[in-house]
Amino acid sequence: MNHCDTSALMSITNRPDIVFHEGHGSWLTDHTGKRYLDFVQGWAVNCLGHSPDVVAQALAEQAKRLINPSPAFYNAPAAELASLLTQNSVFDRVFFANSGAEANEGAIKLARKWGQVNRNGAFEIITFENGFHGRTLATMSASGKPGWDTLFAPQVPGFPKARYNDIDSVAALIRAETVAVMLEPIQGEAGVIPASDEFMRDLRELTRRHGLLLIVDEVQTGMGRTGKLFAYEHAGIEPDVMTLGKGIGGGVPLSALLAREEVCCFQPGDQGGTFNGNPLMCAVGLAVLRTLLAPGFLQSVADKGIYLAHGLEALSARHGLGTERGQGLLRALTLDGERGPAIVEAARLHEPTGLLINSPRPNLLRFMPALNVELNEIDRMLEILDAVISPDRA
Ligand SMILES: *Cc1c(COP(=O)(O)O)cnc(C)c1O
Repeated sequence: MNHCDTSALMSITNRPDIVFHEGHGSWLTDHTGKRYLDFVQGWAVNCLGHSPDVVAQALAEQAKRLINPSPAFYNAPAAELASLLTQNSVFDRVFFANSGAEANEGAIKLARKWGQVNRNGAFEIITFENGFHGRTLATMSASGKPGWDTLFAPQVPGFPKARYNDIDSVAALIRAETVAVMLEPIQGEAGVIPASDEFMRDLRELTRRHGLLLIVDEVQTGMGRTGKLFAYEHAGIEPDVMTLGKGIGGGVPLSALLAREEVCCFQPGDQGGTFNGNPLMCAVGLAVLRTLLAPGFLQSVADKGIYLAHGLEALSARHGLGTERGQGLLRALTLDGERGPAIVEAARLHEPTGLLINSPRPNLLRFMPALNVELNEIDRMLEILDAVISPDRA
């Protein structure tokens, strides 16, 4: 028993019988005092680890000053965060929201509005098989997760699915009703599958030629995760619209929709939300972004990503597992069969120190540690993984 009555919580997933009480950096502590090395970090949300000082301090200071004057008025943290984001990207304006799904809903609305204004009512957004864009009805419809087409049917129409890394499959879906193409630069939930730089460039060229918007969902890949501030930079392209979530809040609910000036066509009243752009969350976003922009930080993410990749390759060679892939500190290791969930559980149960990793598909493991993870923590993670993988092979 975890000494915490959880019976009043609505059941949405099977949770282990532990309750986390504390977290610092890469480490979590449960109700028994057992420690866990965390390579999930709330699904790549805690980009600076658990309860980092910069986040705690930004929250405490802003909470004492101003929490929420309402989105009907300007506030300084939102304005400052928006300018810092635009200065460091190819976008001109930002709309803040509270979750990745909500930012993507905003991107979908913006594209449909832009289609009404500029493209004779075109509204279809080409998205991808196995893509993941969130859990609202529209973003579930935009997602290509198997089974989601019937769960909560009927879907929101207007999201034909192309094949990832297959430019011809995208071209084949373009028609008069098409307004945009939307994708993750690396499909995260599908198992860390990167779009090739060539595919990203071909998409940019194809969408430009047809007068369509290119929307990148960087909810998982943005904010330094891949070793650059935004993953689209790897391909050297300039998308029209981008969404951010997860890491931008360093653990608190914050997300953003960014667009180039020509695309910003919302009229007063078209878009909004009670908590959008509140100074409390934006102050945290500002503290997080400033940390990522400090000299050397993004390079260290890229370096640690290579270090982790080499460690995973060595582990894979030793145990006869599959290939390693990913970019920066978003990585996956394919297994010799569908034993991802069993390894995830064995790692969590490992004594005396547990390890948290996840398995978005049964044949692979995903790693998304804090961006400031230490090299010795990567070593420790590999040791635990090594220990929990071996027994199965015997
Ligand atoms: C997690 C994720 C989302 C959804 O974000 P939420 O904050 O859970 O709504 C959307 N797109 C991608 C690529 C994601 O990884």
